[in-house]
Amino acid sequence: MFSHRGMIPRPSLPSLLTGLGKKGAVGAGAAKPRPVIKLKSPREIAQMREAGRVVARALDRVRQMAVPGVTTADMEEAVTAVFREHDATPLFLGYPSSVKGKPPFPAVICASVNHQVVHGIPNRRPLKEGDIVSIDTGCRLGGWCGDSAVTLAIGQIPPSVQKLLDVTLETLHLAIRAMGRGRHWSEVASLMERYVKSQGFYVVEKFVGHGIGQDMHEEPQVPNFISEALRKHDIRLEPGIVLAIEPMVAMGTKDVRTLDDGWTVETKDRRPSAHFEHTVAMTPDGPRVLTYLED
Ligand code: MG
Ligand code: MG
Repeated sequence: MFSHRGMIPRPSLPSLLTGLGKKGAVGAGAAKPRPVIKLKSPREIAQMREAGRVVARALDRVRQMAVPGVTTADMEEAVTAVFREHDATPLFLGYPSSVKGKPPFPAVICASVNHQVVHGIPNRRPLKEGDIVSIDTGCRLGGWCGDSAVTLAIGQIPPSVQKLLDVTLETLHLAIRAMGRGRHWSEVASLMERYVKSQGFYVVEKFVGHGIGQDMHEEPQVPNFISEALRKHDIRLEPGIVLAIEPMVAMGTKDVRTLDDGWTVETKDRRPSAHFEHTVAMTPDGPRVLTYLED
């Protein structure tokens, strides 16, 4: 999530990189301020880990429900219950739309089925054997945010779709591994893009990851592909930076459209798309995933 901060339209990368420092930046010839990236202390990262654990617990519960006949409304209820058990505040419910006149996001999870890429709204339609569903959710706990997403198979899915899920998850994992070696995000983004292409799939470019901390969407934007804008406004992977990394990979095209509900994003060719996300902190010892269950 979402379309105006966080998972943000690609063409706005340079301007949004300066978006948190808007004051005085709009006049012709005004010098653009540097993006404000809030680095987190080890203590703050430890607090984010607690929020991340709750998000992981919620997604784990959803994972156990992923069988034919379940509805995304059931998953919504399960995640709501987990957040309530931990006194965590859901981040997505009521999130304002970036589209004028459209309602805020009405749920605690985004549930995007098959050709839906992101921001799908949970409903009562039973999922059936062979579907895939991407569940994205986030919460705030003790003032700090966690954000994570997973794409789940419902029963048996075709091998080509399983490959899409495997490649998307591996894209996330290779990005996390590469963060430990690279100095800049452009090196990571380049690897992600090359890997996806090498597998015959497409990186959805319209939405990108984001910094995260006390707010779900902080600077910087974190694209899953390389571009001139990224090279120019590269992200230094220094200790204390915390990023929500979230590759979205589509089987047939990177082109997407948003439905009339103002939220649901689908591929233009209506072929499947997958989405995995983790909140990851850079520490002096390397990248640390915050949205996982154990430890
Ligand atoms: Mg996110
Ligand atoms: Mg998310």
